Amino acid sequence: MNSDSKIYVAGHRGLVGSAIVRKLQDSGYSNLVFRTSHQLDLTKRDQVDAFFEEEQPEYVFLAAAKVGGIMANNDYPAEFIRDNLMIQTNVIDAAHQNGVKKLLFLGSTCIYPKLAAQPMREDSLLTGELEPTNEPYAIAKIAGIKMCQSYNRQYGTNFISIMPTNLYGPNDNFDLNSSHVLPALIRKFHEAKLNNTQTVEVWGTGTPKREFLYSDDLADAAVYLMNTYSGNDLVNIGMGKDISIKELAEKIGNTVGYKGEIIFNTSKPDGAPRKLVDISRLTGLGWQAEIPLDDGLGMAYGWFLEHVEKNTLLTN
Ligand code: GDP
Repeated sequence: MNSDSKIYVAGHRGLVGSAIVRKLQDSGYSNLVFRTSHQLDLTKRDQVDAFFEEEQPEYVFLAAAKVGGIMANNDYPAEFIRDNLMIQTNVIDAAHQNGVKKLLFLGSTCIYPKLAAQPMREDSLLTGELEPTNEPYAIAKIAGIKMCQSYNRQYGTNFISIMPTNLYGPNDNFDLNSSHVLPALIRKFHEAKLNNTQTVEVWGTGTPKREFLYSDDLADAAVYLMNTYSGNDLVNIGMGKDISIKELAEKIGNTVGYKGEIIFNTSKPDGAPRKLVDISRLTGLGWQAEIPLDDGLGMAYGWFLEHVEKNTLLTN
């Protein structure tokens, strides 16, 4: 990408898209184009075609998706598979039809089998059954990867796919019914501290392990790979380290300054036992994460206090 290349970031208000926009702007890219979901509904093919015909972006970061935590995936499986298939099919095909130079598709590590050997290598894709709680979402993401690879093979496009591990950071979703574990626990511990509640409920057994990457690290990797990597091989993006949900809860309790007790609600699902990604391909390509979890948690809590606490909680 050149500093004046026209770059479309789909999903620019979300956790991932907003981090990519910050990274591009900080790196001097000045010809960015975005639309809110009200201005452009990516599930509508005619709108996506009209947008690409009008704007003719040269590079596309496809960070628009319907995402959510374990309960949202469980409760709304039809929306997760439908919206993601529609958004990615419309954007990937319009990118091809309009001669986009390069597209970067954001997948997820839930595409790997539930019981994949840890750390999960890119070539474990489609070698076993998926985790049932987010299978519809994972199937949509696998379809997106296969679409990019197939377009490259048949049409000679340059569409790459990256698989970020669990992400967190500014513009995360802090709604307790639909969020992922990290923002959910920031909110739960914060509210328990304010209300002097004796216990905080953490879902599941606390034994599953997850890897967490700050969104600015992911954005740095995405821009780096857009500039340096082409090929059909997926690239995992992660820290290379994971922790148990129990340890995460304790860390967040410390970050927030909560002094009460943690209890585990084992009637809620655990999901995949572990989702650590193998990052040897990524490190071989010359990139590594820089923001340790402890620092990232502090920044994420700061963002929550500044944006969510102030704007939402206090007006309720
Ligand atoms: P997953 O990585 O797709 O399983 O999605 P989540 O981030 O939603 O959940 C990760 C793990 O954290 C699961 O084992 C959840 O049961 C556990 N967890 C514990 N407390 C919470 C919570 O308050 N919200 C969410 N979303 N998950 C929680």
